[in-house]
Amino acid sequence: MPDKVKAVFLDRDGVLNQEMGDYVRRFEDFHVLDNFDALKTLQDRGYMLLIATNQGGLAKGWYTEEELAKMHNHLKQVYHEHGVELTDFFYCPHHPNFTGDCDCRKPKPGLLLQGIAKYNIDPSKSYFIGDRERDVEAGTAAGVKGILIDSDQPISTVLDQIA
Ligand SMILES: [Mg+2]
Ligand SMILES: [Zn+2]
Repeated sequence: MPDKVKAVFLDRDGVLNQEMGDYVRRFEDFHVLDNFDALKTLQDRGYMLLIATNQGGLAKGWYTEEELAKMHNHLKQVYHEHGVELTDFFYCPHHPNFTGDCDCRKPKPGLLLQGIAKYNIDPSKSYFIGDRERDVEAGTAAGVKGILIDSDQPISTVLDQIA
């Protein structure tokens, strides 16, 4: 068995791109935040970077999987140009009012558990940075240390909380 990987999970809206008050429905409204240096630092410390995001707007029909993929490809590309590799995106396409309950919508830990299983991650050495209490709850439920930030707060401000 190879050594387990350590990871920093990242919420999307309010962490990697600007919080718009609700799901970002249109590509034009998708604004990438400048956390390039901070995430490069985490990458250099040996952390895999993974995204975990609720996308209930899919269940509501506000945007399509294709439009979501376009946003995520853009996010990956912009960070890549700054030397940061966002390894994978885990998203919950459900919404309780439209598709019923699921195991992946945060505060459930499903998205994190998917990432942990797929990449052989050690949760006890991993973190989840999010701008909602539900992100911290999902992290805790998955055995990952949650770090709560304000929406659009630079990640550089919490680097000292990550080993
Ligand atoms: Mg958020
Ligand atoms: Zn779900």
